[in-house]
Amino acid sequence: MAKSFTAPIFHVFIIIFTVSFVFNASASANENALSNPKADEIYNLLETGYFISDENNRELLDKYKAILAADDVTRQKRYIRLNCWNLPEETTEDIQAAISYADKYLQIFMHSSTSPVQIDLQYCKTWYLHILGENEGVVAQIDTAIKHAYQIENPRLIADGRSIRGSILSYLGNFTDALEDLIVAQNIYESLNLPYQANNNLAELANSYRRFGDVKTALKYQIILEQIYLKNKNFYDANMITNDIALSLEKLEHYEEAILRFQKVHDFWLAKDDPLNAVDATISIAANLISLGRLKEADQFLLQAQQIVKPGNDDIYSYLNFFLAQLHYKQANYEQAIKNILIAEKSFELSDHIRGTLDTLRLKSNIYEASGHWSLAYQALNEFITRHLLIDEKVFTERNAKMQTQFDTNKIKTENEVLIQRSKDKERQLDILQSNEKMQVIILILVFIILVIALIFAYKQLKSKQQFKYLACTDELTKLVNRREIYVQGNQFLNQAKESATPFSIISFDADHFKNVNDTFGHDMGDKVLTKIALISKSMMRDSDVVGRIGGEEFVVLLPNIDKTKAIEIANRLVENIAKYDWSTISPNLQQTVSAGVADYSDEEDLSPLLIKADKALYCAKSAGRNCVKVK
Ligand code: GH3
Ligand code: MG
Ligand code: MG
Repeated sequence: MAKSFTAPIFHVFIIIFTVSFVFNASASANENALSNPKADEIYNLLETGYFISDENNRELLDKYKAILAADDVTRQKRYIRLNCWNLPEETTEDIQAAISYADKYLQIFMHSSTSPVQIDLQYCKTWYLHILGENEGVVAQIDTAIKHAYQIENPRLIADGRSIRGSILSYLGNFTDALEDLIVAQNIYESLNLPYQANNNLAELANSYRRFGDVKTALKYQIILEQIYLKNKNFYDANMITNDIALSLEKLEHYEEAILRFQKVHDFWLAKDDPLNAVDATISIAANLISLGRLKEADQFLLQAQQIVKPGNDDIYSYLNFFLAQLHYKQANYEQAIKNILIAEKSFELSDHIRGTLDTLRLKSNIYEASGHWSLAYQALNEFITRHLLIDEKVFTERNAKMQTQFDTNKIKTENEVLIQRSKDKERQLDILQSNEKMQVIILILVFIILVIALIFAYKQLKSKQQFKYLACTDELTKLVNRREIYVQGNQFLNQAKESATPFSIISFDADHFKNVNDTFGHDMGDKVLTKIALISKSMMRDSDVVGRIGGEEFVVLLPNIDKTKAIEIANRLVENIAKYDWSTISPNLQQTVSAGVADYSDEEDLSPLLIKADKALYCAKSAGRNCVKVK
C-alpha cells in the first residue's frame, strides 16, 4: 500500500525536476546568447572607476571591445560611452577629435534623446568643450541632458550630470549653483556606494569652496581626499589633490608649505613625462616665491618655464606672462612688466578667464601707476572696478535669491533618497515580473507534460481493452473469429436481414477425414492444415463476410446480402479451391478436402436453427462422398 502511494509522488517529483532542468537549460541557453560575463566584469571596473592609470583604462577598453559580439547592441553602446570618456585629451586637436566623436554618436542616437547613451554622450561632449574653454552655451546643453536623466530616473546619470555641471559652474564663478549641484551629486554617489566618483566629486566640492572663498573648509576636504588616494595607491588623483592643497595653502598665505606641495606636483608630472603640467607647477612655485619676496629664485623658475610654454598653451601661457609681469613689476622693470601684462590680458580674455582677467587688470593698473602712466593706470583700475562690481552684483543677487532654498541639503538628501528608492523599486518589480514569467512557463510545461502522460495512459487503456476484446473474439490457432463471435455477428446479420428483408446465407464446412491427417502426419501438421484452410477461405471472401472456426475442424462463413444461389456458388468455389491447393508444400503425400453445407435465412428466430440447417446440409455432403456442397 505504502509503495503504491509513494510511487506516483516520486514520479511527479521526477517530472518537476526534469521540467525545471529542461526549462533552466533552455533559459540559460537563451541567456548565453546575450551573456558576456568577462565583458561585464571589465565594464564594471571601468564604470565604477577603479582604474590605475589612463593607459590601463585604454587597455581594458580595447579588451572590452575585442570580446563584444557585433550584434550585442547594449554592450556596444556601453563601449561608445566609455570610449568617449577615455579618448586622449593631451592636445587641442585631441579634444576636438573627442568632441567630434561625441557629436557623431549623438547624431546616430538622435532619435532617443532620453536614452542613457545619449545623455552620457552629451555629458562627455560638454566636458570636452569645458576643457577646451568653450563654456558659452555648454551649461544649457548639459541642463537638457540632466533633465532627461531625471525623466528616466537614473540616479547614476543624474549624479554624473550634476557633478559635471557643478564643476563647470564653479569654474564660471557661479558658486551657489555649483555647490548645490556638487552636494546633490555627493549624496547620490555615497548612496550608490561609488567611492571613486564620490571622491572625485568631493575634490570638486573642495575646489568650489576654495573658489567661493571658504578656503579653510576646502583645505579640510582636500587633506582627507589626499589621504584616501594615497591609501588606495591612486597616485594620479593624489597628485591632483596635492595641487589643490597647494592652491589652498597659497590662498591662506602659507606660501612655503604651498611651494613644497607644488614641488611634489612638479616632480610627479616630470616622472610621468608630462612637461606641460610640470611647467604649470613651476609657474605656481614662482608665484609663491614672488609673494615671499624671493625674486631671484622666482626669476629662475620662470626662466625655466619660458623654455617650454608656447602661446598655444592658453591658461599656462596667460599665467606665465602674468607672473612675469608681477616679477618685473617688483623688480621695477616696468617696461618688460607692461609687455607681459598686455600679453596675459589678451590671453585671459581669449579663454574667457574672468578671474585671470580681473587679476590682470589690477596688476596692470599697479604697473602703470608705478611707471607714472597715471591715465592708463586709472583706466585699468576703472575697468577692474566695473567688472568686479558686475560680478559681485551677479553673485550677490544669486546668493540672496537661492541660498536659502538651494542649500536646504536635508531636502536635497530626501529627494535623492526617494529617487534612489524608486529606481530600486523599479528594479525589484522587474525582477518579480521576470520570475513570474518563468513560473508561468514552468506551469505551462507541467500542464503540458501531465496532459501528455494522461493521453499516453488513456491510449494504453484503449489498446489493452482492444487487445482483450480481440482475444475474447478470436480463435488462437487460425486467428479467425471464434464460435462465440460467430453467434454474435451471425445474429446481427440475421436481424438485419429480417428488418430490411435482404438475403442472408451461411456456409458450414468441415475438413474431410481429418482424423487421418492427425494420425498419419501428426497433430502439428494437422494444426498447419487447419491454419491453411482458414487462410484460403478468408482470402476468398469479401470484407463484409465473416469466416469463423466453431469447432475442431469445423468452420462457418456468414454471408450478409447473399442469396442461396450465390452462396452455393461461393461454397463450391471454396470446396474446389481447398481441393486444388497443393498440400504437398506442407507435407509430401498430403491431400485435404472439405465438405460444405449451405443454408439461407428464411424466417429463423436466431442463428442456431440456421446453423442446424447448414449442418444438416453438411451431413448430406459427407454422406454424398465428401468434397462437395449440399443445400438445405
Ligand atoms: P469426417 O470426414 O467424417 O469429418 O471425418 P473426420 O475424421 O474429419 O471426423 P472426426 O470427427 O472423426 O475427427 C475429427 C478429428 O479432428 C478428431 C480430432 O483429433 C481432430 N481435431 C479436432 N480439433 C483439432 C485441432 O485443433 N488440431 C488438430 N490437429 N486436430 C484436431
Ligand atoms: Mg471432419
Ligand atoms: Mg467434424
